[in-house]
Amino acid sequence: MTLAARNALVTGSTSGIGLATARALAKEGANVMLNGLGDAAAIEKLRADMAAEFGVKVLYSGANMLKPDEIAAMVAEAETTFGSLDILINNAGIQYVAPVDEFPIDQWDRVIAINLTSAFHTMRAALPGMKARKWGRIVSTASAHSLTASPYKSAYVAAKHGLTGLTKSVALEVATMGITVNCISPAYVWTPLVEAQIPATMEARGMTREQVISEVMLDRQPTKQFVTVDQVAASALFLCSDAAEQITGSNLVIDGGWTAQ
Ligand code: NAD
Repeated sequence: MTLAARNALVTGSTSGIGLATARALAKEGANVMLNGLGDAAAIEKLRADMAAEFGVKVLYSGANMLKPDEIAAMVAEAETTFGSLDILINNAGIQYVAPVDEFPIDQWDRVIAINLTSAFHTMRAALPGMKARKWGRIVSTASAHSLTASPYKSAYVAAKHGLTGLTKSVALEVATMGITVNCISPAYVWTPLVEAQIPATMEARGMTREQVISEVMLDRQPTKQFVTVDQVAASALFLCSDAAEQITGSNLVIDGGWTAQ
């Protein structure tokens, strides 16, 4: 597959799944706009290294996914600088854990805004161009929590369930226009964020590293293995390919069997 001549935007791509997806798209020849939070010098190095490694244009937007006007400006900048925006990956996301009756209202609003509403704003801004060119790929990173729930994650679960509904609705609106709209639902993905939680959990529960991984983190993941960022990126890449042009409105689950239970 080649995505040369395609232009992509990946929200939340300064680390983790988004970064792996941006790299996978660039490796196939797509120009990529990165987005996300982080240290400015480190992000600039990431951008320049990626452009040099893959020989594509790599841009960066620091748009905050909490701010609709910044999101619209980011999409406009990608279209103006690249000449089009063909691939949109909605990946930025955050988590907050608390019992619902103690859930801070501002944290509820942040989780819904970044994990769900930002995808409405990116799609709203990107679709007119995709419709005009009669080609587009929209892939959103949902979660196993788009299909199932865990206690204390009410905002995240509501946002991810909402993202699958948004995906289905928009997929139907643009089904005849050469544009597909899908989500990907991974369970626990091995990221530095996950690795960083292990020592504290070992300490808090008096467990070994292996016990924390299999009895706490992978308790509900039947394969007892983490999903990797590259596996999620490969699925996003597939959904952007011509082979996937009849896949739309779907939710591709990568969860080691979690939601089969
Ligand atoms: P991560 O923390 O490594 O990456 C999150 C990205 O979002 C970062 O680039 C961060 O800068 C960006 N971001 C956060 N707030 C932002 C804001 N206000 N504006 C712009 N960017 C912002 O996490 P990850 O694990 O790679 O998660 C990526 C996506 O995958 C999220 O939507 C998450 O819900 C989903 N997901 C993760 C897992 C997992 O186990 N890691 C499992 C299922 C789904």
